Amino acid sequence: MRAEEVKFCPKCGQPVMLEFRFAQDRPVCTVCGFIYFADPKVAVALMLEREGKILLVRRAHDPFRGLWTLPGALLTAAKTPPKRHSVNAWRKLVSPLKSPVF
Ligand SMILES: [Zn+2]
Repeated sequence: MRAEEVKFCPKCGQPVMLEFRFAQDRPVCTVCGFIYFADPKVAVALMLEREGKILLVRRAHDPFRGLWTLPGALLTAAKTPPKRHSVNAWRKLVSPLKSPVF
């Protein structure tokens, strides 16, 4: 279902409004704050290993901001998988690191 088609919160049933969240307009519940993601929930994650150690990064955004995770990115409904996103994830998340710490 496209974001524009969502009229009610799938969590509590109250009306939603389109708000700019996470780089695009998304339906946000006016009562409970639930954000509807019209995405297939596919993600790209990179597992980089060197000398038996795995590279982890801290999340920059909510949810779970500040927690450690594998470098990666969500695949939104408007984009196509998979190679392009692997390359984008690499470019955004790993290449800026001058001296990655494993
Ligand atoms: Zn709600």
